[in-house]
Amino acid sequence: MPEVRNLIIILGDQLNRTSAVFHDFDHEQDLVLMAEVKEESTHVWSSKPRIAVFLSAMRHFARELEQDGIPVHYSSLDDSRPETDLGEALESAVSQYRPQSCLFAKPGDFRVEQQLTETLSRLGTRFFILEDNSFLSTPEEFVDYASSRKQIRLEFFYRMLRKKHGVLMDENGKPVGGAWNFDKSNRNAFPKSGPGTLPAPISFKPDTITREVFETIDNYFSDHPGSLEDFDWPVTRAQALDALEDFITHRLPEFGKYQDAMWQGEPWLYHSRISAALNLKLLLPSEAISAAENALSHNQAPIEAVEGFIRQILGWREYVRGIYWWKMPDYLESNYFEASRPLPEFFWNGETEMTCLRDTINQTLKFGYAHHIQRLMVTGLFSLIAGIRPYEVHQWYLSVYVDAVDWVEVPNALGMSQFADGGIMASKPYSASGKYIQRMSNYCQNCRFKPEVSSGPEACPFTNLYWNFLHTNRSKIESIPRMDFQLKNLDRLSPAKLEEIQESATKLLNNLP
Ligand code: FAD
Ligand code: SF4
Repeated sequence: MPEVRNLIIILGDQLNRTSAVFHDFDHEQDLVLMAEVKEESTHVWSSKPRIAVFLSAMRHFARELEQDGIPVHYSSLDDSRPETDLGEALESAVSQYRPQSCLFAKPGDFRVEQQLTETLSRLGTRFFILEDNSFLSTPEEFVDYASSRKQIRLEFFYRMLRKKHGVLMDENGKPVGGAWNFDKSNRNAFPKSGPGTLPAPISFKPDTITREVFETIDNYFSDHPGSLEDFDWPVTRAQALDALEDFITHRLPEFGKYQDAMWQGEPWLYHSRISAALNLKLLLPSEAISAAENALSHNQAPIEAVEGFIRQILGWREYVRGIYWWKMPDYLESNYFEASRPLPEFFWNGETEMTCLRDTINQTLKFGYAHHIQRLMVTGLFSLIAGIRPYEVHQWYLSVYVDAVDWVEVPNALGMSQFADGGIMASKPYSASGKYIQRMSNYCQNCRFKPEVSSGPEACPFTNLYWNFLHTNRSKIESIPRMDFQLKNLDRLSPAKLEEIQESATKLLNNLP
């Protein structure tokens, strides 16, 4: 190739043709660089489904670029001498092509941004980092918003973005449906008889490219957790659009109502399954939001479902990204409760008698998926009340989920689920006893433990550890607003009961594998 003007770096989670890096693309002078590197699957012990989603989507995207005549330098793990990390891949491409400049959209991972900028600075190559225009807000906008407030909360940021983008707003500038949120209608559990017949989500069987990726994984990552037997995630833009349409048509109408519900053996329920496609940018958040608004205007879904879904994407998704770039890199070290226990081994194999954890972890390893409440109120809650070191909890979430990218996983795991940031992301810890899980699922019906029992051999570990957590961390919890109610309930326990609880908790924690 003659001299390269711009070397355009496309990372595995930047697979959108509308990215700003393509705006001024010249087929004659510019070159796309994409690189599969071992480190991206090993810096945390990535699960096989997660690796497969990234590699397959990257290979499909590169092929589509080439079919459109865009020159691509693609280094694959199947090459005779694969690159080990992104810095190395970039350095060898720069020395081969000697580009005038390098261009890339803001990465989704602080570590990767550092690796790229350090490599290019060392090589003395001019580079430009462009805004990731798939998002509906910028990190700067979030810092502006956050630094002018004593306390930040999702609700107000979300309202600001609703107004800015005219989402679910009527012609008088008021929220559609007469309220900003319908949170209270989003917390139903299924009836005792269960969810009934659920609409099976659209499935994308592995094609030749994906099957080749499975072979790569077999060669390099055979000892990694998870399985590829049921792999059916969308890995192309066309599939991502089909997945969105399938959700909007078949599951959105009930999404709002059952957003928080869980049911043993039913991983998908009414959830959208589009997080990986969104995070890899095969699908844009604006497209998901428009599709939901469209369903509302055609009376195909009620307001509580549409608003509930849009709140996750325009609200939480943008909000957590803002927190990430505002607080990194120190955020990774946060540990408000000074928790220090290692992550129990059953997180990697599902071998536990606790039905809720077993079901959530097994499903996670099988599909690379668990829905929000399973992540927050089963695995996350257990880690919080068992005092697991937040950094290890974060590493686990980053390893196992197909949608796990640092910017979204870190604030959710460390902030929302572990309260490690002391209240930046969530106003109070998501602490609860087994009774919450009993209310929102059928797990407890099939468990040897009893959610109402707090000590002794039949005690539900969640209930036992919940009281123990409140008691042990009392001084730190007292300073958190809105925890009075939980502490008052703690005070109702007799000293003898509290002693029994502590004794059971000590036994349980000492026996964690
Ligand atoms: P749905 O339930 O159908 O929701 C629709 C969309 O809303 C999702 O696809 C997602 O894009 C967005 N969304 C929902 N909740 C959140 C949230 N809290 N933060 C950001 N976006 C949200 N999401 C990720 O995309 N990647 C992660 O690595 C990730 N890690 C998490 C770790 C923990 C501890 C917790 C509590 C949540 C995490 N989430 C993460 C958020 C959420 O659990 C997933 O986005 C969701 O389960 C994905 O499934 P779905 O596409 O079926 O989502
Ligand atoms: Fe989970 Fe406790 Fe219910 Fe068992 S009884 S499923 S451990 S909450």
